[in-house]
Formats: sequence, structure tokens, C-alpha cells
Amino acid sequence: MEREEMPVDVLFVGAGPANLAGAIRLMNLINEHNEAVGEGRKEGEVYDEPMIAVLEKGSRVGAHQLSGAVLDPKALDELFPEWRTFDDFPVERFIERDEMVFLTNGGAMKAPWVPPEMNNMGKPIISLGRFCEWLAEKAEEMGVMIFPGFAGDQILWDGDTVIGVRTGDKGVGPDGQPRDNFEPGMDLTSPVTIIGEGPRGHLARQVIHKRKLDAGKNPMVYEIGCKEILELPAGSVKESFAVHGLGYPLDMKTFGGWFMYSMGGDKVCLGLLIALDAKDPNMDCHKELQKLKLHPYIKGVVGEGKVIKYGAKSVTIGGWGSVPKLSTDGAMLVGDSASFLNPFRVKGIHLSMKTGMLAAETAFQAMVSGDASDSTLKAYQAAVENSWVGKEMDHSKNFHANFEGGIISGMIKTGMQYLFGPGSSIKPFSADYAHMKQLKDFYKSGPQLEDKLEYDGKYIMRKLDSVFLSGTMHDEHQPAHLLIEDTEICATKCLEEFGNPCTKFCPAQVYNMVENEESGRLEMQVDFSNCVHCKTCDIRDPYQIIKWVPPQGGEGPEWGIM
Ligand code: SF4
Repeated sequence: MEREEMPVDVLFVGAGPANLAGAIRLMNLINEHNEAVGEGRKEGEVYDEPMIAVLEKGSRVGAHQLSGAVLDPKALDELFPEWRTFDDFPVERFIERDEMVFLTNGGAMKAPWVPPEMNNMGKPIISLGRFCEWLAEKAEEMGVMIFPGFAGDQILWDGDTVIGVRTGDKGVGPDGQPRDNFEPGMDLTSPVTIIGEGPRGHLARQVIHKRKLDAGKNPMVYEIGCKEILELPAGSVKESFAVHGLGYPLDMKTFGGWFMYSMGGDKVCLGLLIALDAKDPNMDCHKELQKLKLHPYIKGVVGEGKVIKYGAKSVTIGGWGSVPKLSTDGAMLVGDSASFLNPFRVKGIHLSMKTGMLAAETAFQAMVSGDASDSTLKAYQAAVENSWVGKEMDHSKNFHANFEGGIISGMIKTGMQYLFGPGSSIKPFSADYAHMKQLKDFYKSGPQLEDKLEYDGKYIMRKLDSVFLSGTMHDEHQPAHLLIEDTEICATKCLEEFGNPCTKFCPAQVYNMVENEESGRLEMQVDFSNCVHCKTCDIRDPYQIIKWVPPQGGEGPEWGIM
């Protein structure tokens, strides 16, 4: 098959905050270099028309971006020191009330004190999708080429060196055969490939696995976050607030928390995060989010609202101990793909942006020297470690491990480390899926009582109604992008031992056990067109037999202002 090949100088995979900030930083460096060479202050080649490309699997930049999000503007201040004066900066609101609240079954307690690192006063609340659109516009104005609608399908290797990325074929039928509209994927080749695909990146995993970049590291671990945007009656959201919370609806053994931020107009976003190492095989973040909205404290704020948007995403929470080696010959890892999120502050956009910018600085060194082997690219690792990213991540390095024994002991250990420092060693922890308990062990005293939720399609949502609000779309005439190695395990062992947990934890009801009309037994049906690309199944499945691969580029959720 003939494939188009496109050589570029530097290839960024994923148009998230890490790579867009990186592409802008790289263009700044190229422009400064060209100016200095032109004025005779520096020797070297002038890069007249540098080919800097960004691939994005969503239909447009921002379509697959979802976060809270309160932005720590530290990296943005470095990239655009004047951003506060820009008329087109997409801020929802600047925070005027910042609180932390603990919910009991029916009550709420405001925390009397929060650590300064968690102080959000004055920070901008953003829609990550709109923020990435804005960054993409800035990058394109500088000459960066952005290709939305192209999913990176495989890494191109020359031996052990990454030489680019092949995008996925389009127009392949469910039987794997080309259809009339078949378009072969393209080979984008580059001396330097910067991978920033978000959490549990498909290509990042290929590179980490082949080059053993995670040797001696903790596994990457995650939370699932489900988020809704509610529209309230006109004039009801009078102030700008960010509230972070713990407690209800989660028990004291399950790590997680919720957030509620005012957005532009009369909109409020509400989200719940639950660690994917939750022991309960019936953990269902979407359902818990619906329960959260029935709590009197939350209902008092958004109870008059109507849900207008929904999304779900996995969030990396392993911290510093889960960050793999960041470079190999021809490639670097940035942002969530390399576990850059501070789990203590539940913030990662600023860290992602800065890692993208540091990777761009190293990529520029590789352009100038003509050497993109790891002997040049490993400078990126040192730059991260010596930057404020390294210091911030180091301070919270044992946060996840602290909570393995439950919330109370986790808070005590975290408090001690906050006061006396985190120590020099990184505590080990195991992968999320290994923590799930079998039904008989978790529900020793009998089966869990079904929560009775009264769905109204306006405030309390069924999963499929929520999926509709996520704007998710996949052509059904293509191979499923969720590969189950052995569906016999679903119908037998998993049903008996865990009760098919994917039918609960999937926030988009992709997995359904359906009665086989002939045999009468329950068998797995995968409705892949509902998938919102959160990767939870790939991470939490207790048998590790589910693999998420990218569907055709340009498909999946359309998160708009999420
Ligand atoms: Fe998330 Fe997997 Fe469900 Fe898709 S199928 S929404 S990746 S849990």
C-alpha cells in the first residue's frame, strides 16, 4: 500500500497544553535564533520555513480536552508574560471565593485552613478545550502546522530509534477490510517526536514498553473524573467561586474528591474524581456524581440547574515516582503521558505546559546540533528535574502511597510530610487493577443494596443521556477500538468473581452483559460508539484483557467548553 510520507523538523503528537506550549516555545526559540544569525550575533543556519507539526486525534483542537479547571498560570506567565492583558484570553472567571469543604451524609464543614499551595484566590477558571483552542491559534499564527482528525496509530522505528508516527487508516470496515472511502494513514517522519497524548497514551506506552523507560519506577496510577456543566436560571451565579471537597459520597477507604467551579454566564461545573485502585468492584463514578448532586450542600448551589454537558477522563495521580525516563533516541514524553500532575494540588496543566516547553528547548538543541539521539535528548530529563516542575513534583512524591491505607491515615501521613518534608525515598505502590476485591470479599455481609436514583434527564442523569451530552460520535462501520482478548472470561470467571466491573466503572455504558438467545447465558456486548476515550477500562479491568486503541481520527467525544 502506498502511504504518503511527510518529513518534518519536529513532530508533536497530541494538541494538549503540553505540546501546544511546546510548539510555541520552539517557534520562539527558532525566531530568536534566526534573528541573532541574521544580525550576525550568532553563527549557524537560518531556519526559513521550519516544519513544526502537531497531530491531534480529535475532530478539532480542544474536542478531546477535559479538565476542572483552575489554572496555575506559572507556565503561562513564562510563555506569554502579558496574557492578562490579552482581550482574547479565554478565561471563564477569576476566583473570588475559594473554599475546601468536607461533606458528611447530610452535612457540610468548611475547612478552617488550607495549605498555601492549594490557595486558588485570583487564579483563572478555564475551559481546557477553549484554552487549547487559544494556544493553537497562537501556535498557528507563528507558523506551526496543526493536523486535527489524525490519530497517531503506531510509532515508526528505525531499530531502537523513534523516527516518527503513522496515523491510523480511515474507512476500514468492521471486518478489517478497506471500504470505498478508504484512506491509508500517513507517515510523519521526524528526527524528534514529542509525545503528549494525555493519560495512558497509546503511543507513549509503545515507546515506554519497547525502550523500558519505566524500569525501576512505580506504575502509572489514575483516578477517573466525571464532570458535568450545569446551566442555572439567569442571574443565579452572582460570584466567582472554586470549591474543592472530600467525603460524601465516597467512604473513608476510597480515595477521591469533588470540585465545583463557577463558569462564565450562569454555568457551574461539578466533577467527582475516584481513584481507580478503589477496592469496590461496583465502583461507578457516574452514579456517585448523581448521588453527589442530591447532597443538600451541592443541591443548594446547583439544584435549580440543568445538565448541559458531560465528560469523563482518567487523571494521572502517581506523581514523581510514576514518571518514566523521559527520553529515548528520537523521542521525548511530556505532560500527562509521563504522569505530570501534582496529586496533592490536583493540578497538572501548568506542569504539562512547562514539560512541553522544556522538551521544546531540547528539541531545538537537537535541530541545531543535528543529533537527536538520546545523548542530546536526555538533557530534557535534567532540565525537568532542575526546574520548578521537579521541585513541585518531588514535594508531593509520596502522596498517592500515603492513601493506600485509607483517608484518615493518608491525611495524617500527608500532614506530617507537609510539615517535615517528604523524605528522600519514593514509596512503592502497585497498579490500580490489582487492588480491586472480588464481590465475595468486598461484600462479605451480603450484596450491595441498589441505590435508588430518580432519573429526570435534567438534573439526575442516566449514563446514556450523559453520553448524548458528551457529543460522542464514532462511525459504527469500523473495527471496535476496544479489544477484549478473551470474552469467555467475561461470561464466566469475571461475572462470577467481580460481577463484570466494566459494566459499572465505564462512564459511558460501553460494556453490557446481554443474554444470548440460544444459550441463555449472559455475554459481553461492546457498544464502542459510546466510548468517551477515558481509558478507565484499559487501566482498571482486573484481568487486564481490555486494550484501548485509537478509533478513526476525528471521532470520539466533542467536549466543547469542558
Ligand atoms: Fe472509558 Fe473504556 Fe468506557 Fe471508553 S470503553 S468510555 S475508554 S471505560
